[in-house]
Amino acid sequence: MLSDTIAAISTPLGEGGIGIVRLSGPRAFDIARRVFIPAGGKEWWKGNPGYRLFYGYVSEPKSGEIIDEVLMGVMAAPKSYTKEDVVEFNCHGGFIPLRKTLETALAQGARLAEPGEFSRRAFLNGRLDLIQAEAIIDIIRAKTDAGLKLAVSQLKGDFSCKIGSIQKELTALLAEVEACIDFPEDYIPEDRAKTRGKLVKILDQVGFLISSAEKGKIYREGILAVIAGRPNVGKSSLLNALLKEKRAIVTEIPGTTRDIIEEAVNIKGIPIKLADTAGLRPTDDPIESIGVQRSRDALELSDLVLFVIDAVQGFTKEDEELLEGIQDKKKILLLNKIDLTGAGRGPAAGCPAGESPVLEISAKTGAGLEELSDTIERMVFEGKIEPGGNYLVSNVRHRDILRRCEYHLKEALQAVEEGLPEDLQAVDLRAAWVTLGEITGSTATEEIIDSIFANFCIGK
Ligand code: GDP
Repeated sequence: MLSDTIAAISTPLGEGGIGIVRLSGPRAFDIARRVFIPAGGKEWWKGNPGYRLFYGYVSEPKSGEIIDEVLMGVMAAPKSYTKEDVVEFNCHGGFIPLRKTLETALAQGARLAEPGEFSRRAFLNGRLDLIQAEAIIDIIRAKTDAGLKLAVSQLKGDFSCKIGSIQKELTALLAEVEACIDFPEDYIPEDRAKTRGKLVKILDQVGFLISSAEKGKIYREGILAVIAGRPNVGKSSLLNALLKEKRAIVTEIPGTTRDIIEEAVNIKGIPIKLADTAGLRPTDDPIESIGVQRSRDALELSDLVLFVIDAVQGFTKEDEELLEGIQDKKKILLLNKIDLTGAGRGPAAGCPAGESPVLEISAKTGAGLEELSDTIERMVFEGKIEPGGNYLVSNVRHRDILRRCEYHLKEALQAVEEGLPEDLQAVDLRAAWVTLGEITGSTATEEIIDSIFANFCIGK
């Protein structure tokens, strides 16, 4: 129900400088009038209180008990997050003052908001479309600068605009085709060629967005890169160097990294889960063999392998065997410890890198690590589209919708090319149109909307 007034604590629970209790709905100001005592006794609700901050106290109206000293932010409809009257009490950031402020608001007739209900209202009141609502979660959960940038651009409406323009072209085309259903005699072969041309153009745009999805997914979710190689070649040292802090234990006894150490790093804006694996050598030590098995599992799942070779020892038989085991994996070969051998000495000559890049690095001095970052970035995006403006699809839901839309468009194209009657073309075009609308929410069902807002936290 949209006519009631909702309230929730909008900041995480725990101690903090401030914490916010938010109210939204037609009675927000009325409730605030009852529970807020302005310090100067000012009648803040008179005139136009929107976009102002008032200093005072929250109190329990019946007993007059002061709960907290607050700043009250007031945003009048429709210029607020929900397009309703909104009041935010900036309390001191402790659980008790926040909870008591909330309880007082509830006692005055507000209802506790469900998770995501503020954003849901923003959507239902036309303040945000679904893409923008989802971008808010992406901003909150962003793992890297690039992921944040993408989400902010989606919140600004760049992606919505792109979808809107495709939808407009589709609407116009559908109208043309539907007009011909009633007057088929007016439909001449040139018209058919035009329809085909327009359809191909729309398909291209949808196809481009789909192809951007893989890259968008990488920025959002990241990849798993596994550091592999014989014991003592410098895997843990490399992990530490990439993390720029000591985490894995570096030792001079082979085979001591017994378990997998996983860390998240940000390389060129790409979130990368880095796993340092135990040495992959055969072993009788039961604990070490568990590590070896885990390493193999991690390798199996990895998107990229950083295969470390000891430059001092050169490419050994053991390295060769290990490499054979990961033939099909995307990998970068790293000749480590070049601070000892000097760069360009090329024991690399002996290693069968195949298509994989070979880099000379030193985990100890950091030499070659910048080039490694560049190479990782290049390999991760290899064969994928170049950064295509801000229209990257980073959300699985969007990608699936675009794929379904593409399917219907292809069916429509086939119908046009085979000269099937216009009403059959229209069926497919209409299906594509309805499907596309699910992205922004213009044609989304209640279930879809529910499932999206269920991902939000309370108070958002
Ligand atoms: P791991 O078993 O593959 O994880 O190897 P570690 O990272 O534990 O390193 C084994 C030994 O090689 C340690 O003594 C490190 O200090 C040393 N080491 C690792 N990388 C380098 C490097 O780039 N240069 C030099 N000189 N020593 C290194």
